[in-house]
Amino acid sequence: MTETDITSENMLEDRLVALTRDLMLIPSIPTRPEDRQRAFELIKNHLETLDHIDVREYEDNGIPSLVAVPKGVRKPKILMCGHIDVIAHPDVASYRSHIENGRIYGPGSGDMKGAVAILLEVFRMIHRQSSKASLGIAITSDEETGGESGIGFLVNKKGIRAHTAMIPDGGSLNQVTVEEKGILHVRVAYQGVSAHAARPWLGTNSLEHLMERLRELKASFHVMQSNHEGDDRWYPTCSVTMMETANQQINRIPSEASAVLDIRFPSPYTVRKIKKHVKEILGTEVHMDVIIGAEPTNLSPDKTYQKVIEEVTGQPTILARDDGGSDARFLSAHGIPVMISRPLVGNLHMVDEWIDIKSMVTFYKIYAEYLTRKLL
Ligand SMILES: [Zn+2]
Repeated sequence: MTETDITSENMLEDRLVALTRDLMLIPSIPTRPEDRQRAFELIKNHLETLDHIDVREYEDNGIPSLVAVPKGVRKPKILMCGHIDVIAHPDVASYRSHIENGRIYGPGSGDMKGAVAILLEVFRMIHRQSSKASLGIAITSDEETGGESGIGFLVNKKGIRAHTAMIPDGGSLNQVTVEEKGILHVRVAYQGVSAHAARPWLGTNSLEHLMERLRELKASFHVMQSNHEGDDRWYPTCSVTMMETANQQINRIPSEASAVLDIRFPSPYTVRKIKKHVKEILGTEVHMDVIIGAEPTNLSPDKTYQKVIEEVTGQPTILARDDGGSDARFLSAHGIPVMISRPLVGNLHMVDEWIDIKSMVTFYKIYAEYLTRKLL
């Protein structure tokens, strides 16, 4: 590298770090809509410096999102997607960042404000080079809570389309996601009969009844898991994540109880098949409401993208499966191929979440090179 290369690389690194940390300072969590709006203002400021770009703002169920595309372009060749919502932490003072060992630490660094900063910088770089580049960007704010009012709303209600999408919210620097598990979130409830706990035979204990049904459900998932060959855990899982009763009395048999299940499943399982299975095991007495039902996704990363990753990093590209789901499912449901990889990140959803700074620069170069080849 020449001296000018080094200087410009340092400047790029400084810009990416500063923008990431500015975004991280704003607690853009669902309970703070004003802060969420402030994060969008910051992003808009970055996009509005380009005059041939249309910045459109949307809102669904009070959840804001933004799409920026070149004027007159309805369906960009490439749409880059990111989200600025972060996981809620009990202490609002934890929304700060610090730099240590070449990493930015703090909530939202890895998921995904660091990546959003890269998207904004690379978007500006491409559009400064050519006002004809068919590149769009979509920023949403409900990925962590399901994505229905973010990418889901933009794609399903606003008809936002693209030839290809890029979402730096999964995989790793050399790891591109090719398959994601489906998601079924359900609330299940049972109505029993209340009684004094000294005479339990007079009532039907809803909590105990629900626990029994759920234990049976868990056992049925263990059967599916034990039938799976290999140790990649690419099988359906079922977790009871909440369980409640309105009862406040130690000596009362609760009349009602409910629980929330988080079920993940790979293809060829489908939402319909899994739902039918859960219903069958829980029985007709247990009422079931679906909160989220998302099919497993098969993504199709472009060969050029894989090649660019190898060229920039000097390492082979690994195609990997992801146990978690992402916003990609809304796009792939419309046949839009999605490419998912990201910088090096860790401790996601924790207060000490981090992103590696050097890998941010490398990732920027991957995007810059790929977009240059495809669009310029
Ligand atoms: Zn994310």
